[in-house]
Amino acid sequence: MKDKISVIVSCYNEEESIPLFYKEMNEVSKQMNHVDFEFMFVNDGSSDNTLNELKDLAHKDNRVRFISFSRNFGKEAAMYAGLEHVTGDYITLMDADLQDPPSMLPVMYKYIKENDYDQVGTRRVTRKGEPPIRSFFARMFYKIINKMSKVEMVDGARDYRLMTRQVVDSILQLKEYNRYSKGLFSFVGFKTKWLEYENVERVAGETKWSFWKLFKYAIEGIVAFTTAPLSMAAILGVIICLIAFIGIIVIIVKTLAFGDPTGGWPSMVCILLFVSGIQLLCMGIIGQYLAKTYLETKKRPIYIIKETEKDL
Ligand code: UDP
Ligand code: MG
Repeated sequence: MKDKISVIVSCYNEEESIPLFYKEMNEVSKQMNHVDFEFMFVNDGSSDNTLNELKDLAHKDNRVRFISFSRNFGKEAAMYAGLEHVTGDYITLMDADLQDPPSMLPVMYKYIKENDYDQVGTRRVTRKGEPPIRSFFARMFYKIINKMSKVEMVDGARDYRLMTRQVVDSILQLKEYNRYSKGLFSFVGFKTKWLEYENVERVAGETKWSFWKLFKYAIEGIVAFTTAPLSMAAILGVIICLIAFIGIIVIIVKTLAFGDPTGGWPSMVCILLFVSGIQLLCMGIIGQYLAKTYLETKKRPIYIIKETEKDL
């Protein structure tokens, strides 16, 4: 029996990229004629012609399947839906914009088959073509989260990876609503090989990530994988209490020794502002965790499907 590789591609307004992606992926699948392929495109509520492109492909090639969402649910939801529906022995996740080169697939497959790895991930070693400020914050984010969380997050790691069925089944057991896949892939463990490559710029269309969206995604990662900020809030509270205690003693001693001249209100205002700022910050941190807990308890579906290739 031939092995089957399932390729999951999340697509959000990728009408221009899809034909280019399919062409290149098809070439790779021809090279790898010793394995069967299944292409699972997930249309994440695109407002352009993406769905029709996918329908055309599904008519032309019976290896092509698709899932179309009822609206935009985000890339995390798209990847999850893909993982739930594919049938392959080995599963890979790719972007539609060819930033994840399909040409790496044969090498990844070789590592799993011959060197006994369970997952082969990819990481960008350069961030060419990205605004420098974004690269700077990305690096900072990885430094901070790796200090705070036990689950290792690899700097520059992409979602592009090849996994065995066993790894995918473990990921599917993590049913959380707030999905931060980079952490989930590493949380499940298994033997992972990292392949490095130079950043490739997207072939067509434009990135869907604004700075603000990335910032929110970073907070999501932190809240999902560590509760360290909560402990930090508590520690900060203790430190400020200690400072206040020392301050009280200093003032008492000063008053006893030198009498009680009025004044000192500017310092009072500063301290008041500082402490109330810290209080609001800590409440905000708690709020983040509370909000995530609130969303989890609602148990809403991660995605809603409108149609698939079976409806054609
Ligand atoms: N994507 C998606 N849903 C979204 C946003 C993006 O499915 O809400 C897909 C997008 O079509 C692409 C992949 O996720 O295939 C990566 O997106 P993008 O290229 O914009 O991100 P970048 O490569 O710049 O990190
Ligand atoms: Mg991209």
